[in-house]
Amino acid sequence: MRRRPLFWQIFPVSLLISLCTVLAVSWFATTTFKTFYYDQMVVDIEARALLLEQKILDLVLDSPDALQDFCRQAGRRAHTRITVVGPYGAVLADSNEDPQRMEKHGKRPEITKAYSGQTGSSLRFSTTLHRDMLYVAIPLRLSSADHADKTGALRLSVPATALNTVLGTIRNRVVLASLLTILLAAVFSRQLALRISRPLEEIKRGAEQLSSGEKIRLVNIHEHGLSLEMSGLIISLNRMAEQLMERILLTRRQHNELEAVFSSMTEAVVAVDAEECVIRLNRAAGLLFRIDPQIGKDKPVQGMLRNPELMEMIRGTLRNNNCAAAEVELFDGQQRTILEVRVVPLQDNEQQPIGALMVMDDVTRINRLENVRREFVANVSHELKTPITVIKGYVETLLDGGVAAHEDGNKFLQIVLRQAGRLDAIIDDLLSLSRIENTANSHKTSLDLALKELYPTLHAALQTCKLKADEQQIRLDLQCPPDLKAIHNPALLEEAVINLLNNAVTYSPSGSSVFVRAESRQESGKKQWVEIAVEDKGCGIRKEHLDRIFERFYRCDKARSRENGGTGLGLAIVKHIAQSQRGTVEVESHFGRGSTFTLNLPG
Ligand code: ADP
Repeated sequence: MRRRPLFWQIFPVSLLISLCTVLAVSWFATTTFKTFYYDQMVVDIEARALLLEQKILDLVLDSPDALQDFCRQAGRRAHTRITVVGPYGAVLADSNEDPQRMEKHGKRPEITKAYSGQTGSSLRFSTTLHRDMLYVAIPLRLSSADHADKTGALRLSVPATALNTVLGTIRNRVVLASLLTILLAAVFSRQLALRISRPLEEIKRGAEQLSSGEKIRLVNIHEHGLSLEMSGLIISLNRMAEQLMERILLTRRQHNELEAVFSSMTEAVVAVDAEECVIRLNRAAGLLFRIDPQIGKDKPVQGMLRNPELMEMIRGTLRNNNCAAAEVELFDGQQRTILEVRVVPLQDNEQQPIGALMVMDDVTRINRLENVRREFVANVSHELKTPITVIKGYVETLLDGGVAAHEDGNKFLQIVLRQAGRLDAIIDDLLSLSRIENTANSHKTSLDLALKELYPTLHAALQTCKLKADEQQIRLDLQCPPDLKAIHNPALLEEAVINLLNNAVTYSPSGSSVFVRAESRQESGKKQWVEIAVEDKGCGIRKEHLDRIFERFYRCDKARSRENGGTGLGLAIVKHIAQSQRGTVEVESHFGRGSTFTLNLPG
């Protein structure tokens, strides 16, 4: 059904009511006035007739001619037609016409009434005078010999023009007044309709603005001269709107807080309903499963997870309404991710199950670190255990007194001393590593990084290794511009270069050369780097070891390393020093032809 605005429901109805009232009042007023005026005229004419009555009676008895003359003169003076009618309708005299030629008037309504002894009146068109006339007749008691006990009639008539004119004027005025009243009624009806509909319109607009969050009050109650009921309604609605707005704001704030917490969680969270469709998922979950959190909503969770183990956990929780926890491995064809997964039932306010909530923590890195730690402890234990076992064995032999010859005892003690030195070297390297790591992790400027000349540092490193190199008849060659600068900590850089030089000397044949070259390298449009390369022409490293030689305790040839007093920690220390100086280290090696280790430092 088509609905009309309230204004168009009120305005036409109230206008129609006003219109009907005005028309009824106009009709009633016109009719009443017409009757009143007519009666007044009848009374007036009747009075005139009564004044003439006696004179007429006398003349009727005396002489018909005198009667006719009197009627003619009196009628002319009074502008009234005077007709005297006999008992049988014959006209005895008439002020305007010759009574001989006039037809009988006994059937005229006013005459009939007069015959019955009452005053009769009639308003009608006169065929004699050809216009509207008002006739008033009174009874004439004729008591002559001829007309004994007979009743005639004295009729006076005046043109109805005056009556019609007055009535016409009155009608015009009433019509004018009615039109004015209708106009006013229309204006007032409109005002009334607007007064009722406008506040409701305002309330509607206010409610719309309220729902869109633009406003917190519906209508200003001081406007429009509102009725008591309307202002009461508005006060109640305003109060309700304010409370509603407070609740909306509170809910919105809580929602935002929850949203912020939810989306900034590092754990991936997925909430699913009883039909296994996603209710919500956070950013971490979106990243993990490579899906937009908004797009993922309301979609089946199976298509998103694509993992039977995770699906089974969710289904178990939905089925049994219990919690589940497990470590699940994801493999997307490129990388492996280990997740610590917990699934709990999702409940509504009445503690009714409505779905499941799955929280996934990426523990890949922690697992890897844990493995590294475990491996490291095993390696350290193994590295320490070997010399300790040797030392213990020889010391026990010495204590048992099983060594007779003095030289043997000396030899044993030499071995014990060498193994103790080895232990010392391992512990020194471990301490060194731990110190560098701690310094790098503390992010302090205590590392004392500064842009300084490299030459003194490299020269000092060469000097340290020179003795060992000379012993093996290996030549050390330094190529470094004296003004070349790099951001570095001299003590740490010296330690790194000494480690690289020691390895180069260790793994080079005697008579060969080891080169240390430092040069600046400008990357196009990027920052400047300084490369420090330590190059030897030694045994080189097989390709398969290159990826791992910077790991702690990794050796390509364990026996040879031990024989040379290596700890397997030298390159790990170099790597950590490079990182602590915001640089890198890389290796290039050809088995049997030599190796080049390059330190890159910011210039
Ligand atoms: P190590 O104390 O055994 O030298 P490092 O960490 O310094 O331990 O080196 C790891 C391994 O890398 C060594 O055991 C060795 O096999 C290999 N290596 C390092 N530097 C060189 C080099 N210049 N030439 C050949 N092999 C090298």
